[in-house]
Amino acid sequence: MVVGAGLSGLTAARELQDAGLEVLVLEARSRPGGRTQTAEIAGVTVDLGGEWIDAAHTEIRTLAADLDITLHPFERKKESARWYVQGKLHDEMPLSGRDAAIYQRMNETLVEIASGADLEAPWEDAPEDDLSIRDWLGREGMSEDGIHVVETLVSSCGSTVPLDRMSFYSYAVKVATRGGPGKGNEYRVEGGAGSIAAALAAGLGEIVRYSSPVTQVRQDGDGVEVCWVEERGPSSVRARRVIMAVPFTCYREIRFDPEPPAVFRRLAATATYGVVRKTFFIFEEPVDATTFAVTDTPLGYCAATQPVDGESWGIVSFSAGGPLLPELGRPTEERKRRAAAMLGEIYALPEPVEVVEKVWADEYWTRGSYMILSPDDMLAFGAAMGASFGNVHLAGAEGYAAAPSFMNSAVKSGLRAGRAVVEALKTVSVGRAQAPVG
Ligand SMILES: Cc1cc2nc3c(=O)[nH]c(=O)nc-3n(C[C@H](O)[C@H](O)[C@H](O)COP(=O)(O)OP(=O)(O)OC[C@H]3O[C@@H](n4cnc5c(N)ncnc54)[C@H](O)[C@@H]3O)c2cc1C
Repeated sequence: MVVGAGLSGLTAARELQDAGLEVLVLEARSRPGGRTQTAEIAGVTVDLGGEWIDAAHTEIRTLAADLDITLHPFERKKESARWYVQGKLHDEMPLSGRDAAIYQRMNETLVEIASGADLEAPWEDAPEDDLSIRDWLGREGMSEDGIHVVETLVSSCGSTVPLDRMSFYSYAVKVATRGGPGKGNEYRVEGGAGSIAAALAAGLGEIVRYSSPVTQVRQDGDGVEVCWVEERGPSSVRARRVIMAVPFTCYREIRFDPEPPAVFRRLAATATYGVVRKTFFIFEEPVDATTFAVTDTPLGYCAATQPVDGESWGIVSFSAGGPLLPELGRPTEERKRRAAAMLGEIYALPEPVEVVEKVWADEYWTRGSYMILSPDDMLAFGAAMGASFGNVHLAGAEGYAAAPSFMNSAVKSGLRAGRAVVEALKTVSVGRAQAPVG
């Protein structure tokens, strides 16, 4: 049994099915893909959720190749990025003198810390994890304006969490999984990232059941009973093993019997996921494919959308954190108008023919975007994030503690949980998967 048909659950289910096991996937939404979702807006393919893939993200790149899905290099030019900070446009990152030297030292320190970490178990032999990124920058003497610039890059345009809540150690580990400071986001998926989940779900066929939120997981000696609700009422099924591939925010509504270990209960109760909005501006004429801006406005960062026949017809904005939150209190149409006006201040562009936005905190089955690791969280929760208890195995992007909340992490932890179950069922012969009842 697999709970959740995001990239992680679908990858796990494929692994189980390939091993000849009988599998059922239960998904709360009416579609596969979870935090990946591809749409067509005025003829342009856009990724409303997960979009960019890092060169260092080998598991998802291998999966895409297996599914015959092409990855395109992302043609932005980081070195030509525009910076729009405190109402002014800059041609490069607006840090100078001492602040620039501290920023460089920060990147060197991140590499140094990560070089000593075991990326598969970064909670083991970890150094002290008591500093946030802001603590570290403050200790080194960076000015408030400098910290604002780093906050803009790392938080408002990236991780979704204020610098004073983000662990310096966990950030170092995450950066290492992306190939180092300044690396990442090298590819996009042809046809949108949603096409990976769509291909996986199509390969699995009828065993994926949608609109079926799981409500209870009961374990006994030789298996697990999983209960869910579907249109015709409550249902349940017995399975030998269950892979849970849902965000931690969603565990709060699933009852476990017996209760999971205390560390997992604390993790599920306290896990915080950041708020992200993506906004798409579609134009009548193609835009420059190298368009790339980092801003401290509610636009976050902006890049050209996927090229269609070599040309980009739109701009995508990814925004998070401090500048976005007050904006979300405004009515949607006003937000969209304001976003288009802000974009016009950065680039001389005509009026967009269409503006579409998606706010992920509004999605009931996600309730946020990326999981945040604050100081001490890695040591407290890292080992529990991809653990198993009894016949229940945890997967999901957050199952890979070194880099929670990437598409690659979802695939990686799905593969790991799927393989662990196949291995366990090779050696344990008690219990038998049964047909759904009820
Ligand atoms: C706006 C945005 C942009 C992003 N950009 C990138 C990016 O560029 N690159 C990148 O690598 N990553 C990105 N990510 C992150 C990435 O999309 C996710 O980390 C990854 O897709 C998560 O996959 P998952 O399978 O672990 O979880 P999910 O995709 O969240 O799937 C979990 C599934 O479980 C289902 N579920 C929840 N509760 C229940 C229940 N009780 N019963 C049954 N089903 C349930 C949900 O409906 C969902 O379908 C982005 C995310 C967002 C939101």
